[in-house]
Amino acid sequence: MKLTLLGTGSPIPSPDRAGSANLIEAGPHRLLVDCGRGVVMRLAAAGALPGMLSHVFLTHLHSDHVTDFNDLITTRWAMSPVDNPLTVTGPPGTQRFTDRTLAMLEDDIGYRIAHHDDLNWQPGVNVDEVHDGVAWERDGVRVVAAPTDHRPVDPTVGYRFEHEGRSIVLAGDTIPCEGLDRLLANADVYVQTVIRPDLVAMVPSARFQDIHDYHSSCEQAGATASKAGVGTLVLTHQVPTPMPGTEQEWIDQVRAGGFTGEVVFAHDLTVVEV
Ligand SMILES: [Zn+2]
Ligand SMILES: [Zn+2]
Repeated sequence: MKLTLLGTGSPIPSPDRAGSANLIEAGPHRLLVDCGRGVVMRLAAAGALPGMLSHVFLTHLHSDHVTDFNDLITTRWAMSPVDNPLTVTGPPGTQRFTDRTLAMLEDDIGYRIAHHDDLNWQPGVNVDEVHDGVAWERDGVRVVAAPTDHRPVDPTVGYRFEHEGRSIVLAGDTIPCEGLDRLLANADVYVQTVIRPDLVAMVPSARFQDIHDYHSSCEQAGATASKAGVGTLVLTHQVPTPMPGTEQEWIDQVRAGGFTGEVVFAHDLTVVEV
């Protein structure tokens, strides 16, 4: 399998980091996990267009993970020569979110159908809501979901992708929890969104301090990875936005959690193959 970290940013705007999005290529399938800011641009950089995706998975409905879901829907629909519905799996609430997104797009959908004689169908989006269990299975690719803990945002899920005996876990935003441990058991790759509590604490904003209790620190991610016996830990969605040259500080904090395996500090379009 090939994992491309399309977007490694957080809600904080960055010129170099798009919002949360990850591409997994497994067998004949291209699978997208989350649709943050700039996802369609980063897909293009990775050699993929929205119409080439087999399926989309959403970890949760926070804006930094779904804000360009609408662009994905529109671009897939407007560029497809035939009706090519998007299929999406996400936590409970995903159907309602999709309905609202399509409602937001009504004006544009009307303009394009009125303008193009050969475009006479609405964008289709078929949603499957999951919380725990097998989320998707096709051609030897299996995806398992489990609940994560990002409260007060609830429900949230993480995903384990399996193909030819290898596994990649996309945890999303979560603190250590039982569901995550289950997904991670002996996984080859564990992708965790992380914060640096020492740096967050220095930001003079009460609102910013609220993020401490619903994100994994680097040390917690290291401890979770160590407990589960994973091979490679990938740090993404780093908060605050990391200063160039500080990567080793983040990795040192992972080591403080007891993890001795490979650590990848992700930037946009970092690739990990297993
Ligand atoms: Zn979140
Ligand atoms: Zn997030």
